[in-house]
Amino acid sequence: GSKGQGGNHYSFYTAEMGAQAYEHLRMEGALQRALQRQEFLLHYQPVVDIGSGVVTGVEALLRWQPLDREMVSPAEFIPLAEETGLIVPIGDWVLATAMRQQKAWVDAGLPPVRVSVNLSARQFLGQDVAQRVGVLLKETGCDPAFLTLEITESVLMENPVAATETMGRLAAMGVQLAIDDFGTGYSSLASLKRFPIHSLKIDRSFVMDLTQDADDAAIVNAVIALAHSMKLNVIAEGVETQEQLAFLQQHGCDQMQGYCFSRPVAPQGIEAMLRREA
Ligand code: C2E
Ligand code: MG
Ligand code: MG
Ligand code: MG
Repeated sequence: GSKGQGGNHYSFYTAEMGAQAYEHLRMEGALQRALQRQEFLLHYQPVVDIGSGVVTGVEALLRWQPLDREMVSPAEFIPLAEETGLIVPIGDWVLATAMRQQKAWVDAGLPPVRVSVNLSARQFLGQDVAQRVGVLLKETGCDPAFLTLEITESVLMENPVAATETMGRLAAMGVQLAIDDFGTGYSSLASLKRFPIHSLKIDRSFVMDLTQDADDAAIVNAVIALAHSMKLNVIAEGVETQEQLAFLQQHGCDQMQGYCFSRPVAPQGIEAMLRREA
């Protein structure tokens, strides 16, 4: 009905906006139902000690498997889940499920494996995540010494005071904290000193061209050296080739994750891997 005022251009524009808003609503409903119908699951990607090749941990990665459709990758629904606030109940499910899994592997007699869980900004800053983790530690029997929570630099920079307080409480429970996608945000290594962090995860974008791009190689080296001088553990993400692995090994990177070792897999796959190692 806007044709009279704005001409075709205007009505085209509103139709476009309407389609976007509709798609947004449709996805929001689908995500809400996915939670009720238990269509979410976790895959786990091994985190490997670069020196020994031993699997020391796993990162829990969210997957959405709608009934009779293809698995949806988190890149496609996490931004919307963040926007709508659905990330809070979804993230809570992830946390509880990963912590239960950690305990289940211990109960199955496997060597203890560190489980890392990604926390969104909204989860970390918008609710009392420390209190929630405390409750879940009791409920699940997960060992806090084998739990790592991953947050991004932007979360720290958005509200450093609240972040410091929450991190302090988590650290006091014995939970470790890692900075994910390191290098893509705006924090400096110096500013990280004030936070009780255990690990830095070098973003995949720097690892990708490591062996071709001298700047990326220099960045990765600098991050490893400075992190070590601050007594932080360094993990490289997205290691795909033997060349990248060799570089990281030579330059003293502690751990790595990547397709060259394993893609994220179902929990049974991790269990088999751990059994082979034990
Ligand atoms: P992230 O936390 O940085 O996780 C690493 C991503 O890199 C994963 O993508 C993993 O599958 C992928 N990856 C690992 N090794 C390689 C490699 O060698 N090559 C390539 N090309 N990719 C590799 P995924 O599972 O699609 O997750 C994407 C992002 O979605 C995650 O990035 C994280 O930011 C977010 N995410 C995943 N699960 C959760 C969750 O439970 N909660 C929240 N808040 N975010 C999540
Ligand atoms: Mg992560
Ligand atoms: Mg990452
Ligand atoms: Mg990421």
